[in-house]
Amino acid sequence: MAPVLRLLAALLLLAAAPLAAQKPNFVILFADDLGYGDLGVYGSSTIRTPRLDRMAREGLRFTDFYAAAPFCSPSRASILTGRLPVRAGVPNVLFPTERTGLPPEELTLAELLKPAGYATAAIGKWHLGWPEPLRAQRQGFDFFFGLPYSNDMDEKPADEPFRAQHALWRLPLLDNDAVVEAPVRQQTLTRRYTERAVEFLRRNRDRPFLLYLPHTFPHTPLYASEDFEGRSPHGLYADAVEELDWSTGVILDELEELGLTERTMVVFTSDNGPTRAPNDGKGRFGWRGAGGSAGPLRGRKGNTFEGGMRVPAIFRGAGIPPGRTTPQVASILDLLPTFAALAGVEPPAGRTLDGRSLAPLLAGDVEALPEKPFFYYFGAQLQAVRLGRWKLFLQIDQYPERPSSIWYDLQDGLFERHYRLLPQPELYDLEADIAESHDVAGEHPELVELLTRVADTHDAALRRDSTPLYFTQ
Ligand code: MG
Repeated sequence: MAPVLRLLAALLLLAAAPLAAQKPNFVILFADDLGYGDLGVYGSSTIRTPRLDRMAREGLRFTDFYAAAPFCSPSRASILTGRLPVRAGVPNVLFPTERTGLPPEELTLAELLKPAGYATAAIGKWHLGWPEPLRAQRQGFDFFFGLPYSNDMDEKPADEPFRAQHALWRLPLLDNDAVVEAPVRQQTLTRRYTERAVEFLRRNRDRPFLLYLPHTFPHTPLYASEDFEGRSPHGLYADAVEELDWSTGVILDELEELGLTERTMVVFTSDNGPTRAPNDGKGRFGWRGAGGSAGPLRGRKGNTFEGGMRVPAIFRGAGIPPGRTTPQVASILDLLPTFAALAGVEPPAGRTLDGRSLAPLLAGDVEALPEKPFFYYFGAQLQAVRLGRWKLFLQIDQYPERPSSIWYDLQDGLFERHYRLLPQPELYDLEADIAESHDVAGEHPELVELLTRVADTHDAALRRDSTPLYFTQ
């Protein structure tokens, strides 16, 4: 080998060695109730999100990415386990007085990565169990800072009517098990989460890390810090989302400052669709400017139309080529298998995962993965299945056992059931009809039959292979 080539080879080896030795870092920025249409890059004309728009230009943006449930707790169980909510033992929203949560036998992303040398932090809204054995720092996270549950909940009987004056609440801010403030000043939450996240990044710059940052907002009641409240011409909802955009920018800038941009995969997404309720200042969802947009999608938080479960998703860093958009169907269930593959960690054999690794897709081949059905669960009930462009709402001729306190939904001043009794299945072509407005079941009986069979087979297998609900003493 010519001397100059030898020198080049040596330099390449030197450059490659630390990269090969160092596993990728992972950052999950998980908005709460942020709608599909709420970011500039997803078509919002009222909310300014320059940092998230730029993150999309620097990475990969999904157009068909899903949360695993149309509301908080089940979605959180799925993002951390790679398993559907029913399988992971958290089919429904948890309330502070409940003795249940994510079962300790479930394996979280943090528990998976920790033995491989990862520092792990959960900063933000946990909502996977308030009893002590179910808290984040006992589910694989080195520490927890944030709220134990939603910012509209308090330690009160679940059937007590919502209090009009949330100022009376004792909503606690926790630093591990210590209550540092109650009621927490919600205006400060996004800023304080961001500060703790930056501290964590600095402290762990020399080792691999997992930062799980489930934001409190734009879940209602809405708040933004002084720097953001009233700054957007479009109300408090936009203020709160613009502060999340700021927070994302601070974290991305810090990664750059620390020289970690290339080595860190950052994922931004949402746990379910927008509340999108009338802002009447009186109703449960009218507090403090509830809003949000599902863009062109039908439905919203709390139902299995696209608007309830299809969410923004942007991935950046760790080898993802910039500037791409993919129509590939993917979901938060895919994060655990993807991170495991990138970190070189094997999930334990015999544990069924509902997600799959997106690694080939993230490496640049936007059409890399074969079609796979996606299942839309409302609580424990399977309501719809998507395969490719087709989405089938299953025939549902009786209400299931009441699975949770979430039963009614407020819309246009009327209570409507979450559950849809469907005497006939409905089929939608999501490519031609993104708004799910034209039922074509009558034109495609063979597809209805096929997708019904896919759904029934899947659901029966799921029932045989699920972690039971876990109750603390
Ligand atoms: Mg939510």
